[in-house]
Amino acid sequence: MADPLCGSLTYDGHTGTDLRILSMKDMETGYAVVAVGDGKILRIRDQEQDHLIETESDRASVAGKECGNGLVMQLQDGYEVQYCHLRKNSLAVKPGDVVRAGDRLGEIGASGLAQFPHVHITVSRHGDTLDPLTGRKLSEHCTPTFNPDESLFAPEIAAKLEPTKPDILAFGVAGRPVVYDALVREGPPPVVSTNDSVFVTWAWFANLKKGTAIRFTLTDAKGETLVDHTGEPLDRNKAAYAAFAGRQGTLPRGQYQVEVSVTLDGTLLRKAVSEVAVR
Ligand SMILES: [Zn+2]
Repeated sequence: MADPLCGSLTYDGHTGTDLRILSMKDMETGYAVVAVGDGKILRIRDQEQDHLIETESDRASVAGKECGNGLVMQLQDGYEVQYCHLRKNSLAVKPGDVVRAGDRLGEIGASGLAQFPHVHITVSRHGDTLDPLTGRKLSEHCTPTFNPDESLFAPEIAAKLEPTKPDILAFGVAGRPVVYDALVREGPPPVVSTNDSVFVTWAWFANLKKGTAIRFTLTDAKGETLVDHTGEPLDRNKAAYAAFAGRQGTLPRGQYQVEVSVTLDGTLLRKAVSEVAVR
């Protein structure tokens, strides 16, 4: 199954839009989920655990409750919106409540079938599921171009979306190798320090396509290159991915510059640069 832009940003059976935060640590900080429009709450579920799904038995434990904590609200003109994976005990509304656009409904969580903390939204109108990004019915053919004017997202948000490009969610220099599962739990690792015996440039990505190559460079304040590493092109699409390249040794105190670039078939899709202070 292709996503509504004919790409690979979905998987079979997924009929909604996932809006993520980085980590379970961020979930504990609390990120509000708000009403997309004026409407009325039809039904809710609360009291499901926030628990990342990693194994088959995790998956079996949420059978029939894949949405986790969530709600369904009715808007005008035949629109209905379902929200899923909200944080346990965060629901701020009950059936029958009338809400206005922007009202707080709950918090982003990881209840139900969630592999990272996020809110899943399914939008439908008169029973047809719509893709909020393109504004089209899911039953229609995909369209390879993104037209912000047709999106159901607010114009100021739609104008900033680049849905066909990969994202660099976070990057930096750590004092140890970076493990994807630890990123999802703890968030970005601490910055490398003068106590560490290795230094590792790392990055966390979403929506990488098969064939993508990732390059890391690390330079010191004099402009000397300490890391310059380009990985092998990816052998398959990656909805979420972590990569790193590092070296043995201790970085002296000082300022460094880390750069990550994402290239597909020779075209630079994303580049991110940051100053890092090592102490
Ligand atoms: Zn989803």
